[in-house]
Amino acid sequence: MQDELTQTSAPVTAPNLLPLYEESARIMTICNACRFCEGHCAVFPAMEQRLTFDRETVDYLANLCHQCGACYQHCQYADPHEFNVNVPRVFAEVRHSSYAHYAWPKGMAWAIRNAGRFTILTTLLATAFFLLGVTLSGDQSSEGVGFYAVISHNTMVTIFSFVGWLILLVWYFSIRSFWLTTALPGIFNIPLPVYRRAMVSILTLKNLDGGHGHGCYQQGEVASQLRRVFHQMTMYGFLFCFVATSLGTIYHYGLSAPAPYDWLTAPKFFGVTGGVSLLVGCAGLWWCRRSTEQAIETEDGGLGNSLIGLLFFTSLTGLALPLLKGTEYLAIILCLHLGFVLALFLNFAWGKFMHSIYRCVALLASEYEKLRQ
Ligand code: SF4
Ligand code: SF4
Repeated sequence: MQDELTQTSAPVTAPNLLPLYEESARIMTICNACRFCEGHCAVFPAMEQRLTFDRETVDYLANLCHQCGACYQHCQYADPHEFNVNVPRVFAEVRHSSYAHYAWPKGMAWAIRNAGRFTILTTLLATAFFLLGVTLSGDQSSEGVGFYAVISHNTMVTIFSFVGWLILLVWYFSIRSFWLTTALPGIFNIPLPVYRRAMVSILTLKNLDGGHGHGCYQQGEVASQLRRVFHQMTMYGFLFCFVATSLGTIYHYGLSAPAPYDWLTAPKFFGVTGGVSLLVGCAGLWWCRRSTEQAIETEDGGLGNSLIGLLFFTSLTGLALPLLKGTEYLAIILCLHLGFVLALFLNFAWGKFMHSIYRCVALLASEYEKLRQ
């Protein structure tokens, strides 16, 4: 096997690739000859369909990778072997590069490359914006109750609708760029079973099970489900909060029942459950990142922690709001909360949040390829 690999370890790449992509192609060429990890995740079956590894292919494979660490732990060609194969690490670097590469407009790639600083800056500016607005405009709505007495419903809707439409525009162009590099046809030409199988992988985070069902490798050779559990708590916590906001909109406009809501109403149930789930999930993911094997971690300029931090503090300040109703602290915590929410919205467009979207597209493409085989 080693002779075979030595002969095939020259990367099969397109010319003029960046060193990172040359390294990825070199590793993929070795893996393609070895194939020991083909049952680990969606990456290896997709890799085996290819003989060459250009930038688009490497971006696609890297976004399929969930960084469970299994292939690194099981690799007989990892350091100290001279081949120095480390798929999770090089794919993590490729993913970060791909988020910037597919960003729209192109100029916003800097926000992704400097995610930590961008997040701090946007959070401070957004919070200052709301504090200044409340202080200077005297937007103390005599008609509103709870936090709507501090900033009116219409003001919030106007600001976040504008940012929401901007995000949808960014998503359209960013997703389109990435989509076109995959084998996927138009969204209406993808068979329903492909959507169904991709949804199962997305909703169960199947690719975080290490291929054997025991989970990720954070430290050493013992697999654990912790990262998968914390990631699920974060994802479903976020979805619950989205449902709470949507229900709040239906209550407000459809049922003429504006917030704040009682503890036993549906928007409150989803908001509080989702918020608590987000708090635990984000804290757990932060701990997982800190305790992950250094060999497969990579410097990301605060990209991962910025999303975890924004979700955590958005949730924390959101949960504090009903508890502070009627106190002098409500206005400042509301401004802080809205500052985090606005910075989080910007992260949706130009931050780590995009990993969820590119990964969904990659999983869809992987299921589509399987169907065509
Ligand atoms: S990661 Fe290592 S063991 Fe797995 S397929 Fe690649 S070379 Fe083989
Ligand atoms: S998902 Fe896990 S097994 Fe698959 S390539 Fe990534 S780190 Fe390796």
